[in-house]
Amino acid sequence: MPESRCFVCNDVITSANRSKEHIILNSVGGKLKSSEIMCSKCNGEMGSAPDNELALQLRPIANHLGVKRDNGKTPAIPAKGSKGQKYEILDGGKPTLGEPIVEFDSKSGEMHIEVADVSQARAALWKFKKEHPDYSIDVEKILMGFQRKTTYLDDTISYNVNWGGKLAFRSVVKTALDYYAYKKHERKHIVQLLDYILGKEEMSIVKMYYPDKSPFEFVKNEVLNIVHIVGDEKSETLFAYVVYLGCFSCVILLSDHYQGESFTDTYAHDVMSHNEVDKKISLEMTLEKFINYAPYTDCFYRNAKIAYDNTIDAGICKQRSDELDNVIKTAFDDIEEGGVINQPAIQKLQDGIVRYAKHLLHIKE
Ligand SMILES: [Zn+2]
Repeated sequence: MPESRCFVCNDVITSANRSKEHIILNSVGGKLKSSEIMCSKCNGEMGSAPDNELALQLRPIANHLGVKRDNGKTPAIPAKGSKGQKYEILDGGKPTLGEPIVEFDSKSGEMHIEVADVSQARAALWKFKKEHPDYSIDVEKILMGFQRKTTYLDDTISYNVNWGGKLAFRSVVKTALDYYAYKKHERKHIVQLLDYILGKEEMSIVKMYYPDKSPFEFVKNEVLNIVHIVGDEKSETLFAYVVYLGCFSCVILLSDHYQGESFTDTYAHDVMSHNEVDKKISLEMTLEKFINYAPYTDCFYRNAKIAYDNTIDAGICKQRSDELDNVIKTAFDDIEEGGVINQPAIQKLQDGIVRYAKHLLHIKE
């Protein structure tokens, strides 16, 4: 096997200095990784700030899609309800209360509290007890009377999405260079970018990219992570096209004095089916087109919204399918394998389906 060299410092990679690198961030469902492209020293020097920033920007979508990280965790994201209530959005887009809602009518002595779980309830009750010493309440006794209820949320939840910027773009370029190195292309054509990804030099080489004609054919309910690199001997250009979660898409000018052979490399992975897919990308980028491409125009936002909506729809479709699975699982949970389906199970199934249908049709319970 030919030796591998670190594409950053050019040192030979050995068993002593190898380090695993996710070519596409694991937090957005990236599965492609390699221990043959970067040494541990350079990986350390690269710093995690750009990757963290990009991961943070894409977290709401990754969360909505229920993207699983290798460590099995999906971090919650903070969100707000229409009246400013704090929510947290959990794995698969499920909202839960971010803080307890406590309403107390001192005239009637009636108290209404909504909480996400028992520990939140306990904290809320103790806080209440401390603030209202006149009322003698037995926290543990109240907690014993609690019943868990799962309900559909009849509210609109909002969260912030900010995309792009210098820090996140460094992570995008790193994805392109990782893939370039993974495909064993020559280091000498990209050395000019190393100071950029290490944060030592500023360069304007990344543009968020939503052309009128998408470079790839969209398939319903497919959500792709894509890295596509094109080297062109004739025009001496090296371009990359990177898409995260089907909707965060960028074009990168890796070199405008590329002296190598022409090539095209494409990696596309569907985060919904967990499969690598064969995708034809027609980037058709030239130096002139790149320079003249103007992001943040009306067309840009319209095309970006189409891509974003497609991804969100795929997530909703998955959530609905998971929800129905859950209704069936809940109904038949108590029946042993090979057991008889009894009346209570059928009743539970009916109730679950009715509740689900009401939610879909926006009928209040
Ligand atoms: Zn190195």
